[in-house]
Amino acid sequence: MSDVIVVAEVADASVTKPTLELLTLARRLGSPVAVVFGDGSAVAGTLGEYGAAAVVWVADPAIDEYLVAPKAEALAQIVAERSPAAVLITSSAEGKEIAGRLAVKLGSGLITDATDVAGDGSTTQTVFAGNWTVTATVGHGVPVVTVKPNAVAPEVAPVTPEVVEAAVTISDAAKGARIVTSEPKAASGRPELTEAAIVVSGGRGTGGDFGAVEALADALGGAVGASRAAVDSGWYPHAYQVGQTGKTVSPQLYLAAGISGAIQHRAGMQTSKAIVAVNKDPEAPIFALADLGVVGDLQTVLPAVTEQVTSR
Ligand code: FAD
Repeated sequence: MSDVIVVAEVADASVTKPTLELLTLARRLGSPVAVVFGDGSAVAGTLGEYGAAAVVWVADPAIDEYLVAPKAEALAQIVAERSPAAVLITSSAEGKEIAGRLAVKLGSGLITDATDVAGDGSTTQTVFAGNWTVTATVGHGVPVVTVKPNAVAPEVAPVTPEVVEAAVTISDAAKGARIVTSEPKAASGRPELTEAAIVVSGGRGTGGDFGAVEALADALGGAVGASRAAVDSGWYPHAYQVGQTGKTVSPQLYLAAGISGAIQHRAGMQTSKAIVAVNKDPEAPIFALADLGVVGDLQTVLPAVTEQVTSR
């Protein structure tokens, strides 16, 4: 069985959920090999639990000292050594930059923002603000594919991985941009918007009061999102905007509260597995997209749902 390289992301000493999703997808294509930047032995147990037959880790200090170029260079060397069937990378900002650089180094085709990867290597993407679904395959070189978080539910498939440190050489050319300072984001206690399994978003209908939206998100262990109207009104930071000019999310559950469902908003959330809308206007376009719609005032409906959730 061919190797399939999965670029593992580790945050706060834990393997991220999107990485576990990539391992699940990789098993459709071959034998997953997780590449870890940093001490791989510390996370090998988790990676093995989700099917990584091998954990290859890169210890070169340049990985931490410089921006992404050393990671792409190290990966290119690991790919040259292992000749994998594909390289899967999370569709994060860093993941996509690594993928682009890696594809250039390999002379390979690149597919970004896949929402699924089939066993024959074909990928699914939604494009043009979510209006088209495209099935694509890479026709040249080792396919490099970035996959959106929540593409698949992570499945446990325990194996004991072989753990090896990669022998890579980082060139001076890859050390072009040094990290001067790096500070962690202030922790909100909520999951990252693009990775969250549940997103509760508020729009203009909140009237600027996101209290009910945040309370429900916290009760469900979800992230908070916002429409552009809410962001432009200064009610919520731009980092939380969902849509064409914001973030694209694909959670298991997306709850839109006081959001009309403009096409630019839908572009960022319509691949969610289940969509619930709360809107006081029964004609709101979001209801055409929703799996479940509640006609009502969000300031009444959301606290009632929160109470139900927290009382269980
Ligand atoms: P509205 O359209 O004003 O809808 C508010 C809704 O709240 C209404 O349906 C109303 O019935 C309901 N409501 C009011 N009060 C209550 C209440 N108490 N309880 C329940 N429901 C209530 N938009 C984005 O979201 N993301 C983007 O990335 C984005 N990018 C854009 C890019 C471009 C180039 C352009 C032109 C627009 C973009 N927009 C984007 C804006 C988009 O077109 C809409 O204007 C925006 O999504 C509307 O936000 P909204 O649904 O919160 O507000």
